[in-house]
Amino acid sequence: MARPEPTKLTPMMAQYHALKAEASKDGDDHLLFYRMGDFFELFFDDARKAAAVLDIALTSRGEKDGEPIPMCGVPVHSAEGYLARLIRAGCRVAIAEQTETPAEAKARAKAEGTPVSKALVARDIVRFVTAGTLTEDALLESRRANVLAAVCEVRGTFGLAACDISTGRMELEECEESAVDAALARLGASEIVAPDDMRAASPEHIARPKSDFSSDAGEDRLKAIHGVHTLDGFGQFTRPMLAAAAGLIAYLDHAGRGKLPLLLPPVSRSSAAHLAMDAATRASLEVLEAQSGGRAGSLVHAIDRCVTGAGARQLAEDLSAPLRDRPAIEARLTLVAWLRGDPLLRGDLRGMLRSLPDIGRALGRVVAARGSPRDLGQIRDGLSEARRICDVLATKPDRPALLETLMPQMTGHGALTDRLSRALIATPPTLRDTGGFIAEGYDAALDELREMSGNSRRAIAAMEARYRTETGVDRLKIKHNGVLGYFIEVPAKHGDALMAPDSGFTHRQTMAGAVRFNSVALHEEAARIAEAGSHALAAEEAHFEELCGMVSEARIAIAATADAMARIDVAAGQAERAAEGEWCKPDLLDDAPCLEISGGRHPVVEAALAEGGDRFVVNDCQLGPDDRLWLVGGPNMGGKSTFLRQNALIVLLAQAGGFVPAASATIGIVDRLFSRVGASDNLARGRSTFMVEMVETAAILSQATEQSFVILDEVGRGTSTYDGLALAWAVAEAVHETNRCRCLFATHYHELARLAETCPALSLHHVRAREWKGDLVLLHELAKGPADRSYGLAVARLAGVPDPVVNRAKSVLAKLEKGRAETGGLAAGLGDLPLFAIAAEAEQEECDILRERLDTLDIDALSPRDALEILYELKREA
Ligand code: ADP
Repeated sequence: MARPEPTKLTPMMAQYHALKAEASKDGDDHLLFYRMGDFFELFFDDARKAAAVLDIALTSRGEKDGEPIPMCGVPVHSAEGYLARLIRAGCRVAIAEQTETPAEAKARAKAEGTPVSKALVARDIVRFVTAGTLTEDALLESRRANVLAAVCEVRGTFGLAACDISTGRMELEECEESAVDAALARLGASEIVAPDDMRAASPEHIARPKSDFSSDAGEDRLKAIHGVHTLDGFGQFTRPMLAAAAGLIAYLDHAGRGKLPLLLPPVSRSSAAHLAMDAATRASLEVLEAQSGGRAGSLVHAIDRCVTGAGARQLAEDLSAPLRDRPAIEARLTLVAWLRGDPLLRGDLRGMLRSLPDIGRALGRVVAARGSPRDLGQIRDGLSEARRICDVLATKPDRPALLETLMPQMTGHGALTDRLSRALIATPPTLRDTGGFIAEGYDAALDELREMSGNSRRAIAAMEARYRTETGVDRLKIKHNGVLGYFIEVPAKHGDALMAPDSGFTHRQTMAGAVRFNSVALHEEAARIAEAGSHALAAEEAHFEELCGMVSEARIAIAATADAMARIDVAAGQAERAAEGEWCKPDLLDDAPCLEISGGRHPVVEAALAEGGDRFVVNDCQLGPDDRLWLVGGPNMGGKSTFLRQNALIVLLAQAGGFVPAASATIGIVDRLFSRVGASDNLARGRSTFMVEMVETAAILSQATEQSFVILDEVGRGTSTYDGLALAWAVAEAVHETNRCRCLFATHYHELARLAETCPALSLHHVRAREWKGDLVLLHELAKGPADRSYGLAVARLAGVPDPVVNRAKSVLAKLEKGRAETGGLAAGLGDLPLFAIAAEAEQEECDILRERLDTLDIDALSPRDALEILYELKREA
């Protein structure tokens, strides 16, 4: 965009352009919200873009080179809602506030000797608002964390820093390059920053100067923020972690223009602590979001019974990062079981939690200096409620160990809550500039000021009565507005009576139906009210700052209370869900690659079926070291995908520390979980879907270990029949021979059944179906053995394909099947194919020849020269 010459601009436009240039530094384009009194205004392209996104009127203000300047504006008091929509649409916004009042600007102009009439209020960018740096309630979803992440590389190792600035939680992690995507997928960040020279950065990452990512700076900043000499007390942090932390904090500095939000001490995360799941697996299992987008239809939606936003966020985090450490998982499970066993206590707890305010987020706003009296009130109420809940729990016997560690975190705020209770009114307002939130009796001087303005108000009321009698005008009123302040108003026809020079009234304004006056006495009372009012406001403001300071001081303990309450809410919610659905407590085993689930169900499909009054058919899964790969065949719509996913979800839920939808479950702890769906289901994604399918499959083959669990749904479907069968065959073999992980493999290729002849730990299963009176009945029941036929035509009829087409297909099929009988079919000859492992035999043979040669050599009898000769020879042969 061609910038207008600054010389031709009005001073205001010149100021605008200077700020806009700052907001677009380093190609970092932000829409500029330019404060003009009660509005934020946008100009030029910003105005066009914002007007389109917000669907508001695009107007113009002034001209530039003979062209009107496009403009749009939003009122300051409702700016949050507009900001939310812009951020959601992927925009970033710079907020330029007035940093002085018009009166101050005039005084400055006078001092500088410039014409007062041209005085321009100084403005400055006070904040960059981006998706990852929000704290306002209106801009955040209460049941979802809002994560900002930074990623960088230090000598080949990657560092990740993540924080939810609405609550200040921060974690640092390091990993190999191959694990970066999975780690970022786990964090589900709404914004990711990376150094501008990072090779592995994706175009969606926000590039920041490389110099921001210095591990020394990161360490120093963290020490300074938390006032410690060493970070050892918080955990062990490596160079890549600290470098990422530095980048993250530098970005926060930039966004807040030097004002940092709440940051709690960092937690060192080890990627080995978690059940690894890559982005494709998360998407395919619909952990936090359904594939159609949105929360409905996702796993978290089906199990979330939390009654607080913080609990729901914690649950989402648990499901995003299930654990691998058995004692830690069992600690959570024991708490769920304890609450599951005591419905009365659970009901009480949930009742109390329901009214618990979101203390974590209120704290975030207070520490970021964006807090309101209401936030202080929420912290007061939340902390008192936490104490009450702790008291209730303390009366219960046999408390689980996890609860014992949580309870001390829930108390200890007595002095702070007492102070807040005395200082604040019962329901403090969100706005603080009108005052009125400090309780009576807290500050005698403030009470006196209020008393004074109260007296003056009463005096004005008395004055009104007196003036009515004196003037004989019944409809005389004393009113107040923002422009005139207090004034006396009479209907127009009585105006003349008060105009007389000796009446004691001075004329101020004549309206259509009324005339307005002032009087000396009224003026004096009004001045008293104004003075008392502004002193009272100043006093309240000072109290507010002091209270915010006290809250900030206690931030770590308050955040710990918020976390403890969230953890209890999650456990109570899990217990509630388990009770609703008769879910069971899973048994977890270390180093035992088994998966024994009886009566397993899919929580999302079951809930969907229940809505239509249908019952879910339960199925068992019995994987173990000798039977670790199940091929699942059967007709389309028969329930193969559902079966695969329900088992993956059960593993995920169990390792997240929750009960599972099954009659019983014994699970050898899984290190990595993979879920892949054949390409044609994903056509909507519009990429070369077969390519994607193969890239994802390659990742499994290279990463799955004997401790992993893999579900493969119709892999190979995205290409021609021959290619597809060949790939499915090879993949199944590789999983069986090389990865040796637990695996459920759904396929409609009957030919794969022959793998059972060569793969001892592979077994055949199918979902049952029956044709009854020409109709297909899908039983959704898993049975042992290969699928007898595919029922494809029956499914087509079920789906409403017209009879003539189905009949035609029948005759084509008959022809094809005849051909198959004669040639041996698609998989003819596959029986002779050496197994995957045997393919390596040729290589092995070469080794054997070498070994034989070596064995025949008498090394002691060789001269060095002969030895060298033989070496050359061997090398030539190899
Ligand atoms: P496939 O993968 O074999 O094509 P799906 O797993 O997608 O089949 O299941 C198709 C539909 O069948 C599901 O949407 C669900 O409505 C129903 N279904 C699947 N499994 C069950 C089950 N165990 N009990 C009842 N209905 C089921």
